[in-house]
Amino acid sequence: MPELPEVETVKRALSRKVTGKNILNVESNFVKIVASPDFKIFKKNIIGKKIESLSRRGKFLLFHLNGNKIMISHLRMTGHWLVAPKIVKNKFIHLIFQLSGGQAMAYSDIRKFGRIWLIDTKELEKFKPILKLGPEPLGTEFNFEEFSQKLAKNRSRIKVVLLNQQVVAGLGNIYVDEVLYESGVRPLRPANRLKMAEKKQIFEVIRKILAKAIKFRGTTVVNFTTPEGKGGDFQKQLKVYGKKGHKCPRCKGEIKRIVVAGRGTHYCPKCQK
Ligand SMILES: [Zn+2]
Repeated sequence: MPELPEVETVKRALSRKVTGKNILNVESNFVKIVASPDFKIFKKNIIGKKIESLSRRGKFLLFHLNGNKIMISHLRMTGHWLVAPKIVKNKFIHLIFQLSGGQAMAYSDIRKFGRIWLIDTKELEKFKPILKLGPEPLGTEFNFEEFSQKLAKNRSRIKVVLLNQQVVAGLGNIYVDEVLYESGVRPLRPANRLKMAEKKQIFEVIRKILAKAIKFRGTTVVNFTTPEGKGGDFQKQLKVYGKKGHKCPRCKGEIKRIVVAGRGTHYCPKCQK
């Protein structure tokens, strides 16, 4: 599932390709990808709009259009965006936007869990999925005091707490495993029992790992491609995620895999306390 670094990578690549382009037409083979409004209204309202800029909030991608409209995209498990002069149709491509300048932009999603919304700019502050997100980990609003207090009040396992988008936005399974490894904290520890130094470590490592992953254009484990059709490169930097049975890079012990809240979770029993 694309997490913050992957969505940021998509945003940057799309920005370069589609900013300033007009949407001339849109067609769909699976209209339910558009969660709201109905596809007919979506189509009517989006044709003729210009893509002015793109932004990201958590794992949400926002296309800012003229006429005070925003198209919001959440990729969920397998969604991705493509831009090309001509899109070769297949059954996984659910939306094709014809753009000015001879380009087309398509949304592809094998598992069809991704969703798209078109809202008025003024509705953004009432748009619940974004409204309830916690702070952006790479922004100045992510502050240690608040983060520490949220953990102190939560008896759930730290792995579960970091996956909660209301605590901090943008982390998913891969980066939480990597953050906890780098911080030396076991995924099963209750958040409210962590020492201050451990919380500080986690707080700093979140920022460090996400910034590094963006530099590497995200992680390709399953089905993540940038709009250029390339994968990310951060998978070569992964220390524990997907490494069950491999040697820990630090102590040479064996990386274990357990299941926490239904999610495959990887850690080093020696290095993580
Ligand atoms: Zn180790």
